[in-house]
Amino acid sequence: MTISVFDLFSVGIGPSSSHTVGPMRAGNRFVAELCASDVLGSVADIRVDLYGSLAATGAGHGTPTAILLGLEGYAPEEITPDVIAERVSTMTSTGRIALAAELAPASSPAIALTVEDLVMHPATILPFHPNALTLTAFDGAGIELLAQTYYSVGGGFVVTEAQARTAQTNEPGGRAFSSAAELLELCRRDHCAMSDVMARVEGETHSVDDLRARLLHIRDVMVACERRGISQSGTLPGTLGVRRRARGWYERLNAEDPGRRPEFAEDWVNLVALAINEENASGGRVVTAPTNGAAGIVPAVLHYAVHYTASGGADADDTAIRFLLAAGAIGSIYKERASISGAEVGCQGEVGSAASMAAAGLAEILGGSPEQVENAAEIAMEHSLGLTCDPIGGLVQIPCIERNAISAGKAINAARMALRGDGAHRVSLDQVIETMRLTGADMSTKYKETSTGGLAVSVPVNYVEC
Ligand code: SF4
Repeated sequence: MTISVFDLFSVGIGPSSSHTVGPMRAGNRFVAELCASDVLGSVADIRVDLYGSLAATGAGHGTPTAILLGLEGYAPEEITPDVIAERVSTMTSTGRIALAAELAPASSPAIALTVEDLVMHPATILPFHPNALTLTAFDGAGIELLAQTYYSVGGGFVVTEAQARTAQTNEPGGRAFSSAAELLELCRRDHCAMSDVMARVEGETHSVDDLRARLLHIRDVMVACERRGISQSGTLPGTLGVRRRARGWYERLNAEDPGRRPEFAEDWVNLVALAINEENASGGRVVTAPTNGAAGIVPAVLHYAVHYTASGGADADDTAIRFLLAAGAIGSIYKERASISGAEVGCQGEVGSAASMAAAGLAEILGGSPEQVENAAEIAMEHSLGLTCDPIGGLVQIPCIERNAISAGKAINAARMALRGDGAHRVSLDQVIETMRLTGADMSTKYKETSTGGLAVSVPVNYVEC
């Protein structure tokens, strides 16, 4: 089925869509179920079990805190960094959480639960996905009231055990398109662009005005994230001591290029990616695009589309809308047919998918035919195949931040290469997406967001992140 652009581009908090946004949503959904079952007031204890990658790198990704906030009823779309800081401080000092307080303040019990109480099972991979957690609620007599296992499957998407089973038995299909071939066929049949097809899909649930307003809101959150990233200095959270560079880069670049000349375009693209990913790494408000770790690529290439193309000069809002719709159409295919989860297929599924989406968005803005847009998406992924996930110290910092800037440049190059051709090419986007899926399946778990291979072990870190 075609996945909504608003599921692919959702507002959340850093540093990880699968390890922060998804687990917070799981906690939120669990307490909503407790409320719906009318047992909230009877809850005396909560047990949290984390499995696989969530246990292996969750500490560096803020997973335990995200779950506790979700259990308090907070949602990643709404919570602000200031509220997070305030709640974390209170939870730490009291050793308790206010269960579902955001959803049902009158019947919210205070539960003794801290991040140290979470039970970690890094070597245990549950059947459906490496990112799994089980939440169990007990009453005062130790009787189980509710237990639910959630899988955080990338990009902030969360499914229950039952939903996972249903998804596995369902054939792809449903709304509009579920492959690049089907998407191209729709474009040919209706003589329209990919963004038009995606707008029609979204039109089933949104009015024209609502769709426009929501897409521009997504653009605005991306820009706000970039601006906040540029305004900050100091070091990123965690004991790697990574310096925030965006502010210094901005000051120097702005002095060198106050008129925004084309020869500096690449520097500005790099800066946008850097600023957004530094903000993500510090737990700021970001748009998953399609994940948090890869959140800088689409906004950086969108910046290029708006500021360095004829379309952007003529109508910046319309350019942003068409860019996001075309990128979303391609992202939907990745989510449907392969994965956008680093824990499932490595970084090719996160940064590679984001580069492919961004390349498609830009190719359409540059006037590419649907075939050229598909080619741009294919080129960007073809040259991201095999990209491993190996974040040092389990933090979404190295190599993630620079990798976003490099991949934004790759996306621009892919779009420009595709525009030089006529759309005909040997490897289809569907073939390269399937190759990415199979490569991910073959990839050792060392390279799938466990921080047990690659840079994460070649660059020693003399501490245990906790
Ligand atoms: S290496 Fe890639 S997939 Fe892994 S955390 Fe960093 S951005 Fe995400």
